[in-house]
Amino acid sequence: MSAPTIGVLALQGDVREHRAVLEQQGARTVAVRRPEELEQVDGLVLPGGESTTIAKLADRWGLLEPLRAALGGGLPAYGSCAGMILLADRLLDAPADQQTIGGLDVTVRRNAFGRQVDSFESEVAVQGLGGPPVHAVFIRAPWVEEAADTVQVLGRVSGGPADGRIVAVRQGDVVATSFHPELTGDTRMHRFFVELVRERS
Ligand code: GLN
Repeated sequence: MSAPTIGVLALQGDVREHRAVLEQQGARTVAVRRPEELEQVDGLVLPGGESTTIAKLADRWGLLEPLRAALGGGLPAYGSCAGMILLADRLLDAPADQQTIGGLDVTVRRNAFGRQVDSFESEVAVQGLGGPPVHAVFIRAPWVEEAADTVQVLGRVSGGPADGRIVAVRQGDVVATSFHPELTGDTRMHRFFVELVRERS
C-alpha cells in the first residue's frame, strides 16, 4: 500500500501540526474523534496536549475502549508527550483516577522534568532514525521511569540534570517520545512511523 491512512487522535492538542508532517511524508490523515473513524485507519498518532483532558474526553466520547481494543489488536501507534502518557500501562504523578489506553509496558512519570521547568530543548540520539541527534523540544514532558525488558529504548537524555532518562521507546508497533518532533521541522520521527505503518498495512 503506497499511501497509508493515519489517524490523529483529535480530542485536544496539536493535531494540525502532526497531520501536516504526516501528509508531507506521504500518508493520508484523518482526525479521529469517534470509534467509526478509528476503524478506517492503518495507524494512529496521539498528539501532545493535556493527557488528563484527552483521557476524560476519550472516555466521555466512548473512545477509550475502542482505542484499547485497536491497540490490543495490533494497530501501530505513535504517541508524543501526552500521547506517551496515554500509551503507558502505568503512570506516576498522575491523578489516581487518570485512565490510560495502555499498550506500552512502561511506567511513565508525568511532568517529570520538574513542574517549574515548562520547557527545554536538548539533542537526543534516537536509534533507528539515522543522521544526527534529534533536536528535542520538551514541554512539561513526561519520561519513562521504568521499561519492561520487551520495550526497546530508542533514546535517552544526555547531559544535564535529567541525564540518562528514557525519552523514546518502542514495543512492537507502538512508539512513543517525550518530545514534540512535529514542532521542529525534523520529519524523521514521522517518516519512521509512516514507514512502520506502510510495512504493516
Ligand atoms: N504535561 C502534560 C500531560 O501530563 C503533557 C504535556 C505535553 O503534551 N506537551 O498531559
